[in-house]
Amino acid sequence: MLEVHQFPCLSDNYGFLLHDPVSGETACIDTPDAAVCLHEAAGKCWQISQIWNTHWHPDHAGGNEAIKAATGCKVVAPAAEADRIAGIDTAVKQGDIIRLGDWEAHVIDVGGHTLGHVAYHLPAADLAFVGDSLFALGCGRMFEGTAPQFWASLSRLKALPPETMIYCAHEYTESNARFALHADPDNKALQNYVGRVRSTREQGLPTVPTSIARELASNPFLRTDDPAMQARWGNGDATATFAALRAAKDSF
Ligand code: ZN
Ligand code: FE
Repeated sequence: MLEVHQFPCLSDNYGFLLHDPVSGETACIDTPDAAVCLHEAAGKCWQISQIWNTHWHPDHAGGNEAIKAATGCKVVAPAAEADRIAGIDTAVKQGDIIRLGDWEAHVIDVGGHTLGHVAYHLPAADLAFVGDSLFALGCGRMFEGTAPQFWASLSRLKALPPETMIYCAHEYTESNARFALHADPDNKALQNYVGRVRSTREQGLPTVPTSIARELASNPFLRTDDPAMQARWGNGDATATFAALRAAKDSF
C-alpha cells in the first residue's frame, strides 16, 4: 500500500510525502519548505525521488531547487506554469498520467486559483492532492482565473468517486467553516461537520485530509449547482452563484 506522510510547514501549509514501499519511490507533493520536507523524509528513511507541484506559488514550489539539489529527484509540474516553476523535468496537463512505482496519478486541470493549477488523482489509492484548488469547506482564492474556469475545475473534482480522500495544502478549515455557515445556514450536514472540525482543532489535530463525499454535502463552493444555494446567492446558474459566493468570501 501507498503511505502518505503529512506534516505542517510554514504557518498553515501541509507538506506531503507519498511513499511506495514496493519501488522505494517517494514523491514530495509541493515544496513549501525544503529543509522540513528533507528532514521529514530522512525521519522516515525515505529518499525523495520525485516532486509533484500543483502550482507555481512559492509556498508550493519554492523548495524545488534545494530538494532537487539534495536528492537528484525529478520534478513534475504543470506545463501552463513551466516558466514560473524551477527545475521541471516533466511538464503535465489535463489527462496526463504520471507514475510512482506502479501507481498511476492522473493529472486534473483545476485552474482558477492560478491559471495552470493541477491536481494529482491516484484512482487505485482513492486519494488526490489538490493544492489550493479545493479546501475543506472552501476553495482557493481566485487570483488568476475566472469563475467559469474555477467552477469547471471544481466540477472535475466533484466527479471523483465520493470515497476519494482529498489532501488540500492548507489548514484553513475553521475560518472556512465560519463563511460556510453564513453561506448555507440551514445545511444540517454542514453544521455537524463544523462541530467535528471545532473539536478536532481544539485537540490540535489536522482537519486534512477530507473526502469528496464530505465536501459534496457541506462545502458551499461545491454546492452552487444546488437550487437552494442558487436561490440564496445566484441567479439560477451554477457559475454565477459560484462567482457571487467567491466574491462574498473575499470580503467576509
Ligand atoms: Zn497558492
Ligand atoms: Fe498555498
